Amino acid sequence: MIGKCSSCFMIVNGVPNTKTCREPVADGLVVERQRGWVSPPAEQVDLGNVENYEVETDVLVVGGGPSGLSAALKVAEYGYNVLVVDEHFRLGGQLLKQTHKFFGNVELFGGMRGFQIAEEYIKKIGSNEKIKTLTQSVVYGVFRGGVVGVSGKNAHYVVKPKAVIGSTGATERYLDFINNDLPGVIGAGGAQTIMNEYGVRPGDSALVVGSGNVGIIISYQLLQAGVRVKAVVEILPEVGGWFVHAAKIRRYGIPILLQHTLKAVYGNGKVSEAEVVAVDNNFNPVPGTEKRFEVDLVLLAIGLEPDNRFFAQCGAAMKWSPDLGGLVPLRTLDLETSVKNLYVAGDASGIEEATTAIIEGQIAALSIVSKLSDGSRASKAEEEMEKLIRFLWDEYRASPVLARARRGKQLVTVSREEMEKIRSVNPPPVSFG
Ligand SMILES: Cc1cc2nc3c(=O)[nH]c(=O)nc-3n(C[C@H](O)[C@H](O)[C@H](O)COP(=O)(O)OP(=O)(O)OC[C@H]3O[C@@H](n4cnc5c(N)ncnc54)[C@H](O)[C@@H]3O)c2cc1C
Repeated sequence: MIGKCSSCFMIVNGVPNTKTCREPVADGLVVERQRGWVSPPAEQVDLGNVENYEVETDVLVVGGGPSGLSAALKVAEYGYNVLVVDEHFRLGGQLLKQTHKFFGNVELFGGMRGFQIAEEYIKKIGSNEKIKTLTQSVVYGVFRGGVVGVSGKNAHYVVKPKAVIGSTGATERYLDFINNDLPGVIGAGGAQTIMNEYGVRPGDSALVVGSGNVGIIISYQLLQAGVRVKAVVEILPEVGGWFVHAAKIRRYGIPILLQHTLKAVYGNGKVSEAEVVAVDNNFNPVPGTEKRFEVDLVLLAIGLEPDNRFFAQCGAAMKWSPDLGGLVPLRTLDLETSVKNLYVAGDASGIEEATTAIIEGQIAALSIVSKLSDGSRASKAEEEMEKLIRFLWDEYRASPVLARARRGKQLVTVSREEMEKIRSVNPPPVSFG
């Protein structure tokens, strides 16, 4: 339900493998179930109807979440052209489904709700003639010569950018347990999409697995939507999310079962019960401690993984980081990867949160702008970038709640000299610019 997997593939108007979580409802839409291998559309797509475009732009932004949108605005502020591509039919990324208020100072949207931040970005971007956007469009590949392929609705684009910012976000993790494919088991982000973006209550009573910020926030949002939350299950001995969020759901009497995991779900065609079990200090289930809850919804909020597919395809040097949720591109302080003029920002650079995603987008944009410019424009961009880097590392990430991400990001950040060495030992197949 966040456009990242194949779980919702259906045949829509005869076209198989359509991600239904990203397909707007329209009058007369014919939606059919698909099983296993599919046949090509009965009516062949007339290739004559597909428009082909060649596009040149200063900067291509892959992904229109907070990091991509903040980057685009910064690039445009310095007078350069930018193209933002997003798979969804609306810009905003995960912000669209966030109904809680952000912390922090007003310049960083403190006090605003996530979807309001998205609305503000969309308004600013819509009225900026330097920024072009393509929604319902997928950046599907990169080719020799630094050319990027974009597949849109009945259109195909070949984009030649001088620099690229990859702000592709994250995917949700899944969990092994008995009957985990029963309808009613979904990712927490999926529930946020159904509930907060599309305005549909995802179930009547829920069990939430995972007490990180996403798990805790979704529990509160479920309550607001009238869903009974029976419990939050957490395998670790302590709550992972911020204290203030956890305190809120405890006040509503939702138990947080620490050192517990989900063992199984049961039901006839859809979830009607979930079974949890206590674990010992080595995370092994303790027999005899099983408890069952009558629920029709089981939400998995067990962590996010950086969406690194675009960087892997470009041949960027990567590093595994447990602190950042998985495999991420190595980068310099100004967020350039080992692929020349390919930058990374936001969750794709390692799971953190929306405010750091916004700051990273701006840092990447300023680095590109300073390279494209000369004279006072270049030095102004460089100065602004240095200031933001200092703020991010010395002030914002000094917060203890970001300690893990900070450690992870330190370990994947290298100096420009080291990056040059990495490039010469293992030259990437493409570069931009
Ligand atoms: C499921 C989920 C729930 C979250 N819930 C909360 C929450 O409740 N509270 C909170 O504070 N934080 C939450 N976060 C964290 C916060 O939203 C993120 O840190 C922030 O949105 C990251 O911004 P981003 O721009 O890096 O990525 P995103 O906001 O994920 O945006 C990435 C965008 O890139 C697009 N995209 C990806 N690949 C391609 C491609 N190849 N072609 C075209 N488009 C592409 C996607 O469609 C998406 O719109 C959540 C994150 C996720 C993933």
